[in-house]
Amino acid sequence: MSTSRSTGSGPSRQPREGAFRAEAWAFLAANAQPLPATALSLTSIVAEWSPQEEVVRVAEAKRWQAVKHAAGWAGIAWPVEYGGRGGTLIENLIFQMEEAAFDVADDPLVVGLGWCGPAVLQHGTDEQRQRLLPPLLRGEELWCQLFSEPGAGSDLAGLATRAVSDGDEWVIDGQKVWTTFAHRADWGLCIARHDPDVPRNAGLTAFMVDMTAPGVTARPIHQITNSSNFNEVFLDRVRVPDAMRIGAVGDGWRVVVSTFMWERFNLIVGGSRVLPGLADLLRSTGASHDRRIRQRYADLYMRAESLRFTVLRMMTALSRGQLPGPEGSLMKLVATNLLSDVFELALDVMGPEGMGDGTADAWKGQWHSGFCGAPGMRIGGGTDAIQRNIIAERVLGLPRDPRPDRV
Ligand SMILES: Cc1cc2nc3c(=O)[nH]c(=O)nc-3n(C[C@H](O)[C@H](O)[C@H](O)COP(=O)(O)OP(=O)(O)OC[C@H]3O[C@@H](n4cnc5c(N)ncnc54)[C@H](O)[C@@H]3O)c2cc1C
Repeated sequence: MSTSRSTGSGPSRQPREGAFRAEAWAFLAANAQPLPATALSLTSIVAEWSPQEEVVRVAEAKRWQAVKHAAGWAGIAWPVEYGGRGGTLIENLIFQMEEAAFDVADDPLVVGLGWCGPAVLQHGTDEQRQRLLPPLLRGEELWCQLFSEPGAGSDLAGLATRAVSDGDEWVIDGQKVWTTFAHRADWGLCIARHDPDVPRNAGLTAFMVDMTAPGVTARPIHQITNSSNFNEVFLDRVRVPDAMRIGAVGDGWRVVVSTFMWERFNLIVGGSRVLPGLADLLRSTGASHDRRIRQRYADLYMRAESLRFTVLRMMTALSRGQLPGPEGSLMKLVATNLLSDVFELALDVMGPEGMGDGTADAWKGQWHSGFCGAPGMRIGGGTDAIQRNIIAERVLGLPRDPRPDRV
């Protein structure tokens, strides 16, 4: 996606976007099955996947990505020279919304396609984009995001992983944690400290780390959902060519900020199937006859509709060629809290049945794993408290917290 390209504005674009939606729908209908009525289309963060199921899901995500690429529907807003469609961000959003109605999952690839890929597009050199982006768009390579550490999450600028220059290579030493799909990744976008003697943000540099390189060890962490798709990652004297440094030395923080912006932006379509699913659950269990349950559902519905207005506002901004900004924090905060509350109501209604292993439940345990996994969505990509800080400072213009470490 080009950051400088204007996506145009005004009513003349609307028929074009309508035609795009119809074309996208025709492609999807011809190449994918509609989601079954009891499928909630849970993302990997909230789904329960056994290791065997994970292998199948990753393979399926890669297959679907290859199908999209072959038909010209991969990287919709990415430049054609890197394998993209050369379209607009709003077209990308329209496609994602249509795709959500089909039984296809590119979720394991989202860290590369949705968060880190756009950052490489923005900050990488032409050679890096040529090497890294086409295989990503073809579904051949999976990426992970090597940011968080045991001592640095919300306060990411305090990270301790070191990068030491050695000729035309860097030697990286340290530990990352909570790294989604690191154990299946080919590449990891890693932030490391090249200079401990300058103010914290200025001492950071970004690198693409080959996850198969000697010295890289990914150890899956068993999660409450019973999946093990995030990891501890140990980087033990890992050699990275300088040609895989993303951005200038000292520009790591800019890469972090772009990655987080795209991460929050790309989260907004997630969870779109759970509210209709909840309505079905309430009807099928008879819970919809309970006035208090109906009120709770109405409250959730109202919040989802309000979120839709925020999404529409963002789409309008995209139509005018503006990039997503701190509004992503607002959407992440509202969407992930809504998701938690949807799962909580579902489990309240299901009672003990909702706590089973899913074998006797028409929904195959999806409500239970969603209930366990949804709080993680309020942490990954920046916690609720961090989103509130961003909204307070950057949207509302309230006084900043004192941060003596900031450059
Ligand atoms: C499902 C999931 C997937 C993840 N995937 C990845 C990944 O792929 N790559 C990666 O690098 N990381 C990943 N993470 C890690 C995630 O980014 C961090 O967990 C998150 O940034 C919080 O950091 P922390 O866990 O160190 O908590 P801490 O930063 O230690 O926070 C602890 C508590 O303190 C609060 N707090 C901290 N600072 C402030 C403040 N300034 N003001 C108010 N409250 C504050 C937080 O809100 C939180 O409640 C993932 C996490 C989850 C849950």
